[in-house]
Amino acid sequence: MTDTLFDKIIRREIPAQIVYEDADLVAFKDIHPAAPVHVLFVPRKSIATVNDLTNDDAALIGKLVLAASAYAKREGFAESGYRVVFNCNADGGQTVYHLHLHLLGGGPLRVGFG
Ligand code: 5GP
Repeated sequence: MTDTLFDKIIRREIPAQIVYEDADLVAFKDIHPAAPVHVLFVPRKSIATVNDLTNDDAALIGKLVLAASAYAKREGFAESGYRVVFNCNADGGQTVYHLHLHLLGGGPLRVGFG
């Protein structure tokens, strides 16, 4: 199992602005925000990419999405809207090979993909 940057953040070996954590996941602010709010929701379990998910991880993925929407509600931008994204592998723009969900919001986002 590869030890990634995000494993080190989860273990508090590298500093990050942690905004939420529970038994399953840690959420912290992206160091290069692509929106007024940009938070990464990272499972404690090391899973490299979306391709490596199994049926056993179905509840865990649900928890990442629910934690993101709960954060958006707490921070007051759930109704105005936001985006949740998993990048997968090189063409998807993934740079850290520890699965993570991007929560982007806090203002209007560029429409479209690509
Ligand atoms: P990916 O490109 O793999 O989907 O997303 C990785 C994200 O991690 C990027 O948005 C990048 O800005 C963020 N990132 C990279 N290094 C660090 C770091 O040291 N700390 C934090 N908080 N975020 C980081």
